[in-house]
Amino acid sequence: MGKRKFKAESKRLLDLMINSIYSQREVFLRELISNASDAIDKIYYKALTDDSLTFNQADYYIKIVPNKADRTLKLIDTGIGMTQDELEKNLGTIAKSGSFNFKSENEIKDGHDIIGQFGVGFYAAFMVADVVTVVSKALGSEEAFKWESTGSEGYTIEPAEKATVGTEITLKLKENTEDEQYDEYLEEYRLKEVVKKYSDFIRYPIKMDVTKSKKEEDSDDYVDYIEEETINSMVPIWKKNKSELTDEDYENFYREKRYGFDKPLKHIHLSVDGTIRYNAILYIPENRPFDYYSQDYEKGLELYSNGVLIMEKCSDLIPDHFSFVKGLVDSEDLSLNISREMLQHDRQLKLIEKNITKKIKTQLLNLQRDERENYEKFYNAFGRQLKFGIYNEFGANKDVLKDLVMFYSSKDKKLVTLAEYVERMPEDQKYIYYATGDSIERIEKLPQTELVADKGYEILYFTEEIDEFAIRVLMNYDEKEFKSVSSNDLGIESEDEKAADAETTEENKALFDYMKEQLAGKVKEVRVSKRLKSHPVCLTADGEISIEMEKVINAMPDNQSIKADKVLEINPSHEVFQTLKDAFESDKDKLNLYTNILFNQALLIEGLPIEDPVEFTNNMCKVMVTSA
Ligand code: ADP
Ligand code: MG
Repeated sequence: MGKRKFKAESKRLLDLMINSIYSQREVFLRELISNASDAIDKIYYKALTDDSLTFNQADYYIKIVPNKADRTLKLIDTGIGMTQDELEKNLGTIAKSGSFNFKSENEIKDGHDIIGQFGVGFYAAFMVADVVTVVSKALGSEEAFKWESTGSEGYTIEPAEKATVGTEITLKLKENTEDEQYDEYLEEYRLKEVVKKYSDFIRYPIKMDVTKSKKEEDSDDYVDYIEEETINSMVPIWKKNKSELTDEDYENFYREKRYGFDKPLKHIHLSVDGTIRYNAILYIPENRPFDYYSQDYEKGLELYSNGVLIMEKCSDLIPDHFSFVKGLVDSEDLSLNISREMLQHDRQLKLIEKNITKKIKTQLLNLQRDERENYEKFYNAFGRQLKFGIYNEFGANKDVLKDLVMFYSSKDKKLVTLAEYVERMPEDQKYIYYATGDSIERIEKLPQTELVADKGYEILYFTEEIDEFAIRVLMNYDEKEFKSVSSNDLGIESEDEKAADAETTEENKALFDYMKEQLAGKVKEVRVSKRLKSHPVCLTADGEISIEMEKVINAMPDNQSIKADKVLEINPSHEVFQTLKDAFESDKDKLNLYTNILFNQALLIEGLPIEDPVEFTNNMCKVMVTSA
């Protein structure tokens, strides 16, 4: 059979492997062992549903065979094996391998971190070997095949001899160089060390013949002898005692499991002995998966029944608002025969979910309290999900989430929690104020914030679409009501100020009514502003729907159209007000022109489109010409 070429992306990855740097090389063993373990799992699952197969634990193992004379390292497994087709498909192209599917060319290019951090799959073998030979016999097949490759050159597949089902991978280790000792992977101690580090929890025995020595009978001499030893403890990490485990163990496990490519911000290890017994390891990731806010993202935890994986993504174990959490749950109280449909309604799962949710919340609060910087990293990645969580299900989860959300604020332009906000409210401040806008910079310039800011009150900056919706559901925090800086009654005015406003309103009623007439269908009212100090006008809204909400809802794909009841507010202490009054007395055409301009200016400040930009600019020109 002739030589075949690797697919293009496979070749790129191969080159990366071949040129990897020293410290990352050892993970090749982790990759090959994890493939072997997966292959045994496959037989195990088959046996669960196929009566003609029995799974006898003792028959399944992985064996590592170093051979110094040949300079080869062999990995033998009794897994499901591969047919000729599968050898071609699985080892001929990297696209099969989950880990690299989405990686961009750039990421592959500077892939030095990638290798150490997460699974790179079968090709990792080329980090230490220049010839890789795979002999495999698939379950149910009579024939065996040999796949062989020297790296980027390509590979060959031909018939081979193999008595038993399974796979045997032989690595011909590279020649040592001045600073790289590839033959360290023929040393017992080094192999043990790497297995312990990455693959200790593999459920099947990883065996190796090790040299031991014993004292000869009737003599003082020691003789060496060879004994097969299982070098992994086989106890899954989640069944180990927390005190035996280091942060690094948890991080290695996270990578081994490919929960993410980042370093988790926090791990939560639970051993619960209540109504339902279970162990769980959960992680708060640092980075948001690239598809997190898309339809494609699937939440869920791995579900094990007494050490055996029964579901890869059990969504019932984690609520939507914590959908970023990765990890697994293992419970001996769940029956293995349980079907997927049954699982969905399982009372036990609900119990576990409730319990886990509580623990996650506590840990997130701890993170917020003790490691603020990390919490902010987390919040920048997943905060939006928490706010959606408040809004969804009519606020059913708002109490779980209200202490976890944060917003930027006018105080130090930093994220603050609601508790922190309330804590530093001055005595006379009644409400929690917020302002909405596309960005912090934009909000800071909003005329509506003038009065509240002037009072020295802190303002929360809502820059995400969900913010105001979430806060409306929350309604209050610590008995303090939320109040938009655009709301009609800011609760700031004194009785005297109120009376003065009422007077100005009364005096100018005819002017306001006239302007309102001019803006019929566009605004509900024109009135004296209580919040402006230096700006001439602004737009606010009466009623439930704010202007920001109108923007968000109207931008939704299902074409809902709603309108906020807009109010044009005019600052009576601004010079422009006198101009309006004069025009009202003497020149209605001029007033019409000014009304149009002011209204459009207010729209622009709000970030709303103006209906007729050409008319607006023509009007501006008219003003320039008359005032010149
Ligand atoms: P991944 O494990 O993420 O799928 P790999 O590159 O490690 O990617 O392996 C590619 C595929 O090759 C595996 O999915 C599996 O189908 C097959 N494979 C690799 N090693 C073995 C093995 N020892 N036994 C059976 N199949 C294997
Ligand atoms: Mg793999």
